[in-house]
Amino acid sequence: MDPARLECLARVTKPAHALRKEATALLAGATRIVVLTGAGVSAESGVPTFRGEQGLWRSYRPEELATPDAFHRDPELVWSWYQWRRELIADCAPNAGHDALARLALTRNGVTLVTQNVDGLHHRAARDVASAAGVSDPEPAHPLEVHGAIHRDRCSGCERLTPAAAGSNAGPPSCVMCGSSLRPDVVWFGESLDPDVIGSAQEAAIQADVCLVAGTSSLVYPAAGLPDLTLRSGGAVVEVNLDPTPLTGSATVSIRGQAGEILPEIVGA
Ligand code: NAD
Ligand code: ZN
Repeated sequence: MDPARLECLARVTKPAHALRKEATALLAGATRIVVLTGAGVSAESGVPTFRGEQGLWRSYRPEELATPDAFHRDPELVWSWYQWRRELIADCAPNAGHDALARLALTRNGVTLVTQNVDGLHHRAARDVASAAGVSDPEPAHPLEVHGAIHRDRCSGCERLTPAAAGSNAGPPSCVMCGSSLRPDVVWFGESLDPDVIGSAQEAAIQADVCLVAGTSSLVYPAAGLPDLTLRSGGAVVEVNLDPTPLTGSATVSIRGQAGEILPEIVGA
């Protein structure tokens, strides 16, 4: 049999504890680590993934609401979906996975957190973990948010940023400076990412010995391309996900399981 296929078969048939051990050793031995998280990391906190059950919103596909076209066509609908998500997230708290990543970034040099999540839970974990450990600066545990932050609004005219408008479901408020509609400060499908933010994430991925990828379907580019940058520079990729993804075949180690259970174990923090 082709040696590459044999190696791949050996990887998928390894017992779970051996995969966790291998991932732990890779992370413990790394000088530089980049961590990429997706919606799955917040699922155990109660934040629905885009593929999950979404109650009254289940008749809409997020790909049809999180777009500039949808906002242009029906701003009230898109705004009320975001207000629903903001209220839902306000009632959620970071879980053991967020906490472990925050501890990792606070206790080791050379760790860069990158998230596709817009929920701010990594920030909250950074503050909680730093204050519990008596660390005055949670900064190293704050992630690069490549898809923006739901708790901010951005003016669709002058780009001014403001904290998210509370309460109103009646549609997007107007900017006090220029009168244009406010929108959530998130990257919608079809929009470009902030080049500085994704550029820093790509540089960290190139420099990393290990890219740890957790709770992402690895479908949304350019974020989904980060692990490949690490692999191409000779580093390793550790994936943690409930299900196989398009990354699974090329990951050095891929572990099936809940991020909140696996991450604390393998990052040793
Ligand atoms: P996704 O919804 O496409 O995929 C989630 C992935 O997480 C799936 O592969 C699933 O198998 C896995 N998963 C679910 N629960 C898990 C758990 N407990 N432990 C480990 N893995 C788990 O999410 P994505 O890849 O982040 O891409 C969707 C886009 O939607 C992103 O751009 C993101 O910005 C946005 N989004 C963000 C949030 C959030 O901020 N929490 C929520 C939904 C969507
Ligand atoms: Zn404005």
